[in-house]
Amino acid sequence: MKYIGAHVSVEGGVNNAPVNAHNIGAQSFALFTRNPSRWKSVPLKPNVVEQFKENCERLGYKSDFILPHDSYLINLGHPDKEKLQISRDAFLDEFRRCEILGLKLLNFHPGSHLNEISLDECLNRIAESINCILDQTAGVTAVIENTAGQGSNVGFKFEHIAHIIDKVEDKSRVGVCIDSCHAFAAGYDLSTKESYDAVWKNFDEIVGFQYLKAMHLNDTKKGLGSRVDRHESIGKGMLGIDFFKLLMRDNRFDNIPLVLETPNEALWQEEIKLLTSLCDE
Ligand SMILES: [Zn+2]
Ligand SMILES: [Zn+2]
Repeated sequence: MKYIGAHVSVEGGVNNAPVNAHNIGAQSFALFTRNPSRWKSVPLKPNVVEQFKENCERLGYKSDFILPHDSYLINLGHPDKEKLQISRDAFLDEFRRCEILGLKLLNFHPGSHLNEISLDECLNRIAESINCILDQTAGVTAVIENTAGQGSNVGFKFEHIAHIIDKVEDKSRVGVCIDSCHAFAAGYDLSTKESYDAVWKNFDEIVGFQYLKAMHLNDTKKGLGSRVDRHESIGKGMLGIDFFKLLMRDNRFDNIPLVLETPNEALWQEEIKLLTSLCDE
């Protein structure tokens, strides 16, 4: 089965996320558990945590289908020692919040070399960051998201992700989330049947489907290999509806959260319906 959802709002508290997901007919959802553009976080209140768990249970959202996303400020491959530590502290806080909320996955962007260290050094630092956080936590998997390769962001090639995973000690708690917009922008052509098959064959050889824990379903405004990250509504961008048809009928993407981050929230309910209809066409 396909678990299609969206990155929903936590306005008024994380406890509102499952309600917002339910209201648009989502089978899965993503959320921020803290303000993604601030370094400091406000501790989760026990009644909010309880309400979150209650709402998830009542509305039928299991933790396998909930994909928290980390703060945009965190750079686990930061060239500067002190700044790297600030990122690691914030990342640990993200993990702790997942533990408190009973969540199993944490989706994050790998990091940036900022043109100060080499790609390999940056990837090694990211793996070290993951190791150091996994050592201090339990039950939460670090889910690496592929990037569009904007600026000095790493993680836009499957090889980068494989490099990180290779250096992570506890392979049972590391995974991957592929964002379709980012993949296309990074040069992976998912828009035709032939190239779609070739991209996923390559993914399986380099990374391995056993690590795929989630997907971000986004169409893209920018061209193949543009390295520019601009999401577009489903079927309205350069990936096009044919890609989503292929994906919805592909059982390699069953039983993982498939999360929309498309720009027009007002369309999410419709987009979920549309994607669901493609599954059994
Ligand atoms: Zn994404
Ligand atoms: Zn993006």
